[in-house]
Amino acid sequence: MMIIMKPGSTQVEIEHVIEEIKEHGLTPHLSVGEDHTVIGAVGDTHAVETAVFEVLDGVESVIRISQPYKLASRQFHPKNSIFPLDGFNVGGNEITIIAGPCSVESREQLIETALAVKAAGAHALRGGVFKPRTSPYTFQGLGEEGLELVAEARQVTGMPVVVEITSITQLDLMIKYVDVIQVGARNMQNFALLSALGKIQTPILLKRGMSATIEELLMASEYILSGGNPRVMLCERGIRTFETATRNTTDINAIPVLKSLTHLPVILDPSHSTGHADYVTAVARAAIAAGADGLIIEVHPDPAHALSDGRQSLKPEKFVELVKQVRLIAEAMGRNLSPVATAQTA
Ligand code: PEP
Ligand code: MN
Repeated sequence: MMIIMKPGSTQVEIEHVIEEIKEHGLTPHLSVGEDHTVIGAVGDTHAVETAVFEVLDGVESVIRISQPYKLASRQFHPKNSIFPLDGFNVGGNEITIIAGPCSVESREQLIETALAVKAAGAHALRGGVFKPRTSPYTFQGLGEEGLELVAEARQVTGMPVVVEITSITQLDLMIKYVDVIQVGARNMQNFALLSALGKIQTPILLKRGMSATIEELLMASEYILSGGNPRVMLCERGIRTFETATRNTTDINAIPVLKSLTHLPVILDPSHSTGHADYVTAVARAAIAAGADGLIIEVHPDPAHALSDGRQSLKPEKFVELVKQVRLIAEAMGRNLSPVATAQTA
């Protein structure tokens, strides 16, 4: 619990609050700020009503920080977390767009897609090389060879690269080649992997499990944050519902809910959340209108022949249109796309 004192509250009032905290079996932690004195009440606060402190003289407000996801919580860190990624910021007023193929298939496919998404205004390139496929008989990704292609695409375009990790054994390779490590939906609760990612400083894009609650997503992020890696972006990528018209159901609610619960940047993946190229742009617009800090979009020069997720992949010309529309929505919301995007399309 956090007890925020009114500006100018007296020493006697502060001491009285501290006594009251102790009387409830809690431990007081005093923090004297420029404007406000804040007193933390740490311990089992479940049975303690906030009103116990709210009525005391000098108290402005009382906030519970009893959420299990303490480090991810906005109460712990009220301002948005903003961190730099090769020339632009994630989590600030500017929107980040990550785009590229579901899987890295070949040099030609990757470089062509990378140049196209960059020209359209993307800030970072995505491309999977270790693919978590439902069937063991489908394309599993190019592995390390794919990472070398990703490094080449990075060199050619100057864009940072986002690649999914599927096993802790890939960690050294990932650190060597990749700017942002993606944890896919299927690994959101791979706790050993999350803990290992907490011990490095590479930014992490943590996707929501397809049957995970928002609280479970935040708890997963807590594994990374508590290990010492503060650079976590959360990604809503659709959840499983009874609906079959789309591959998943975009939980658009998750965006404002996450933005209110956590200071971490929130990204939406309308490619996986809809599963259909025809719906991706509309849901991307909705995400920005709902307050998302960015998008991750699958783009392929020849979706009909993609080795994975062709049905939901946009052709480059459709992606150009998506970026234009998203920019308009961002501006309507008082936000912008990152300047890198503006420069690319100017
Ligand atoms: C992907 O990004 O290609 C992917 C496998 O995503 P998800 O984990 O959201 O299914
Ligand atoms: Mn995919």
